[in-house]
Amino acid sequence: MDAARLDLDGKPIKAMTICMIGAGGFIGSHLCEKLMAETPHTVLAVDVYNDKIKHLLGPDDGQESNQHAWAGRIHFHRLNIKHDSRLEGLIKMSDLTINLAAICTPADYNTRPLDTIYSNFIDALPVVKYCSENGKRLIHFSTCEIYGKTIGSFLPKEHPLRQDPEFYVLKEDASPCIFGPIEKQRWSYACAKQLIERLIYAEGAENGLEFTIVRPFNWIGPRMDFIPGIDGPSEGVPRVLACFSNNLLRGEPLKLVDGGQSQRTFVYIKDAIEAVLLMIENPARANGQIFNVGNPNNEVTVRQLAEVMINVYSKVSGEPGLDAPMVDVSSKEFYGEGYDDSDKRIPDMTIINRQLGWNPKTSLSDLLEATLTYQHKTYAEAVKRATAKSVAS
Ligand code: NAD
Ligand code: UDP
Repeated sequence: MDAARLDLDGKPIKAMTICMIGAGGFIGSHLCEKLMAETPHTVLAVDVYNDKIKHLLGPDDGQESNQHAWAGRIHFHRLNIKHDSRLEGLIKMSDLTINLAAICTPADYNTRPLDTIYSNFIDALPVVKYCSENGKRLIHFSTCEIYGKTIGSFLPKEHPLRQDPEFYVLKEDASPCIFGPIEKQRWSYACAKQLIERLIYAEGAENGLEFTIVRPFNWIGPRMDFIPGIDGPSEGVPRVLACFSNNLLRGEPLKLVDGGQSQRTFVYIKDAIEAVLLMIENPARANGQIFNVGNPNNEVTVRQLAEVMINVYSKVSGEPGLDAPMVDVSSKEFYGEGYDDSDKRIPDMTIINRQLGWNPKTSLSDLLEATLTYQHKTYAEAVKRATAKSVAS
């Protein structure tokens, strides 16, 4: 490892201890990998699960291997931040806290709104408080969903202003947050995330908390969510990458909710993690900032995403696709009562460019090829076995 790693201002980066809450999830697992492989920092990894980071842990955490180059720099703490007095001690021991813990799958927002609000707002409160009271820096994970619907979505379908970026590009310091009515419980997540952002911002303004807020725009890649019935509940509904992967692995048509007309921009997890590392190691440039992190060049409708995934999966698996590879389904049928959707999500990149010089690199087809190769390698055999077993019984 390069001993003299420098920050963006040419100053040497000192090794730090990071309390990472939600380290066992999708983003956390990639961030832990990056920190172990490329930096001298130590991670106190907090989560209720550790399956996605087991390959990084050593004998102290019940794993066999102590051969890792980073041995002793990552420690797993199995705790639920809802009710565990050890949390404050871990934050006090660290230079920086990163909070990734959340319920963040849309299928939960309208069906488990209380859990969603508690997880995204109430459970994050002590983390903010401990950081503020102990003078510790906080990087908090919010969401692009905080923007809600675009201004343009309220104009008639053919209105020319819908094509004007002023009406759809999402800017951290200028765009409003536009949510649907309360009975559309989809917005419980966005609203809880918005209130915790405002609280963190106010802690910064009134009490001097050093904070950075991250708004991820559909980060995707290996280890995202779960495949229902394989490493997650059979009836579970993960985010779209895992839903479509599951359909492809099982040879079923991909389900397009309400015609698949919503638009998203997808960024490769490995590109996005580069942005987070820049935030971690450049506090003078990241403190007090809210950052969009996404790839404005990778925009597709959900229908187009399905088409690309079908083609790429056929290439990586060598299996021919179905004659009717997609099927329409209503949001009520798929998600239940109270679902609503974000229409379009293009991140403005001015602030992250100016502060950190970060740009995403990977095209949608490249990131899907890498991700679907992983999905096929990891799950295809297990899905075949599970299908054969259910046919036999
Ligand atoms: P994830 O579900 O894979 O990871 C979240 C982790 O937090 C899980 O491992 C979970 O076990 C843990 N956790 C939840 N509640 C906990 C608790 N009470 N105590 C201890 N651990 C707890 O999700 P992710 O995709 O890695 O997302 C991380 C963060 O980024 C979330 O705050 C999410 O809202 C935000 N985000 C992610 C995306 C994306 O594209 N992946 C988009 C928008 C926002
Ligand atoms: N979606 C879909 N079929 C699925 C799963 C999701 O059409 O099997 C749609 C969903 O309605 C939304 C988009 O895909 O418009 C992205 O969903 P995701 O769960 O990734 O979360 P979001 O981007 O809405 O936060």
